[in-house]
Amino acid sequence: MSLPLALLLSSALAGLALWKRALTPVGTLLAWAMCLAICRIGAMPAFLILAVTFLATVAADRLAGKRADPRGLRRKSGRRDAVRVLCNVGVGTAMILLFGITAEPRFLLAYAAVMAESLSDSLASKLGPLGKGKTVDICAFREVGVGLSGGVSGAGSAAAALGAILIGVLCLLFPGADGKTALLVAAIGFLGCLFDSVLGSRIQVKYRCPVCGALTERDRHCDVPGKVERGWRWVNNDTVNLLSNLFVAVLAILVF
Ligand SMILES: [Zn+2]
Repeated sequence: MSLPLALLLSSALAGLALWKRALTPVGTLLAWAMCLAICRIGAMPAFLILAVTFLATVAADRLAGKRADPRGLRRKSGRRDAVRVLCNVGVGTAMILLFGITAEPRFLLAYAAVMAESLSDSLASKLGPLGKGKTVDICAFREVGVGLSGGVSGAGSAAAALGAILIGVLCLLFPGADGKTALLVAAIGFLGCLFDSVLGSRIQVKYRCPVCGALTERDRHCDVPGKVERGWRWVNNDTVNLLSNLFVAVLAILVF
């Protein structure tokens, strides 16, 4: 799309992020630059995919509020800083840049699949806990605390599928895309979300709170430091998101 329109749309989205306090000022600046590249190279469909992912994530966050993490087990989400923006949109932006360099449509679809995974994961973690069913660890099949990474539930899986399908449908706006393309993007995005849960269960660091005994992603709970019980200390939710995005990008490049 033209530079003036790209500037207008990315500034509008960045302004909204700042106004809704979804991003820190530095995070906003980085997101703005990424959005500008996505608009310029990927045109309107790529922008719509980014905008829908962002808006639906913010909406789900507001809708769920504290219910997404009733016992405070997840790392404080708060505002996203530059590192979080890089971990969550970096791989997608890289795919757009590769599309700009090579003009290979597979990179554009890889971008869409990465965004499908991101939205799928966001909706699952925010809306999943609103369901009544049990949350079980994706690898161990035993019940875990609501909101903990690696936990899956019926409502969470439905929300994940919804997010992936939403982005898949938007892919129909890409020139030459058909129903099969949309279905594949949604399927790869959903698969990436499962991969995200497996990493969240297996390698993401978790601490045991010595006061209340909860398994948590926070290094402090009940005002005391926790003991590392599972996972690797340097792997947090951002690392897991980055690795899942990479997995999705590679899978999409191979498939398309
Ligand atoms: Zn505690």
